[in-house]
Amino acid sequence: MNTLSRRHFLKLAGASAALAATPSILRAQSATSNGRVVVVGGGFGGATVAKYLRLWGGANAPQVTLVDANLKHVSCILSNMVLDNTRSLSSITFGYDNLQTKYGVKFVQGKATSFDNVKKLLKLANGTTLAYDHLVLSPGIDFKPIPGLNFSKIPHAWQAGPQTTLLQQQLQQFMSSSSPGNVIITAPLAPIRCPIGPYERACTVADMIKRKGKPGSKVILLDANPGIMAEVNTFTTAFNKTFAGIIDYRPSVQVASVDSDRRIVQTTTGSEFQASVLNVIPAHLAGAIVRTNGLVPDLTAANWGAPVNPLNYESTVSGMSGVHIIGDSQGTGMSKGGHVANGEAKVCADAILRMLKGEALDMGPTVPAACFNSVTSTTGSWLSTLFAYDPVTKSMIKVKAPDNPTGTFEAPAATGDNYERIFDWSANLFADTFA
Ligand SMILES: Cc1cc2nc3c(=O)[nH]c(=O)nc-3n(C[C@H](O)[C@H](O)[C@H](O)COP(=O)(O)OP(=O)(O)OC[C@H]3O[C@@H](n4cnc5c(N)ncnc54)[C@H](O)[C@@H]3O)c2cc1C
Repeated sequence: MNTLSRRHFLKLAGASAALAATPSILRAQSATSNGRVVVVGGGFGGATVAKYLRLWGGANAPQVTLVDANLKHVSCILSNMVLDNTRSLSSITFGYDNLQTKYGVKFVQGKATSFDNVKKLLKLANGTTLAYDHLVLSPGIDFKPIPGLNFSKIPHAWQAGPQTTLLQQQLQQFMSSSSPGNVIITAPLAPIRCPIGPYERACTVADMIKRKGKPGSKVILLDANPGIMAEVNTFTTAFNKTFAGIIDYRPSVQVASVDSDRRIVQTTTGSEFQASVLNVIPAHLAGAIVRTNGLVPDLTAANWGAPVNPLNYESTVSGMSGVHIIGDSQGTGMSKGGHVANGEAKVCADAILRMLKGEALDMGPTVPAACFNSVTSTTGSWLSTLFAYDPVTKSMIKVKAPDNPTGTFEAPAATGDNYERIFDWSANLFADTFA
């Protein structure tokens, strides 16, 4: 299933395994809904909203312009698999040709810097301005600065692309040397994009060490959080059993500064750790276009996302009507993932089409969140949650089951079947977003 047709969409509505988020009433394609929508960011949120605005808008679809700083998007999803050469970077790199030729999205390469919501104009760094009726921002994340941290030496690899390649090269060099050493990975305080990601990465590197047989080498995972953020059973088993003696997991350790030349991490309690390979993932911030244009009223808040109405992802900040934030930069409290961003994008597309026609919003949106991850090079696991709009709190809450009051469902064990499903799930998500 590359693209959700109206028939498929109806069939899938309410199914937690479906990729589709589910506005309860599908758009009528007859009334006029023309208008101009400009989308910033061509990743999982932005590419999806651009595609579905055109697809669901039908004959009266708005003119949609997608702006991205790069000609192609490199997916973070599966990027941990590039580190051990299970996947190539090119296999997770996507251009915007399909969005242009199949759906009539106009693509503009450029960096958006600011917007004037009175004049309804978006400005790009090269001086171009783009007029809009609705502006959708899906710029992903930025990082909080850490003293001494230089990404050209100490990669985060938390935005895929050259940073992924740099970490891959450092790991390959480490693996080819005969001396033992430590790979240190630091995970920041939640909320972060892909809360399972640091643990998956620790397992990927531990698996490389285990398979190669590199005695005395370890992965030290310094986690700022008091415990494993997600897939607690899977990763507890992985750390204590599968990779016992290789992964050294240390919760509640926060990075204060980094010596990038000597690959040393200094913690807030004064300890120092020196690494052969150092991978520091800093705490996150909303993307600059969101953060520096007044959409995050409290820049010091633990929830660093922009406040939005989850019925249409419109900013709740005064004067920002018609500005929508989706993906990692929004602050609904839903988990931050590509699958979630894809679902939010569909709710947002549906809502904008309704707004352009003066129709009421769908009052019952749901957004599915699923992650499939590897644990070893042959086993994998998954995590799944369905978020639904709660009219009482006006927020998205987890749908719970009688036998699972948390609303978060985790694979009972890491298996070979789950490993295979990583590729079906991600192929489906990639196609739904970019094809
Ligand atoms: C290692 C790793 C593994 C992951 N695995 C999973 C997984 O298994 N499942 C899952 O659901 N999620 C996963 N994620 C998370 C997922 O990648 C993100 O949550 C998702 O990409 C967020 O989508 P987005 O649209 O907000 O941002 P992105 O997909 O990051 O897209 C942002 C885009 O905006 C562009 N941009 C930013 N600012 C500007 C600007 N000012 N002007 C123009 N363009 C701009 C960027 O170039 C980029 O293309 C993983 C993340 C990591 C790091």
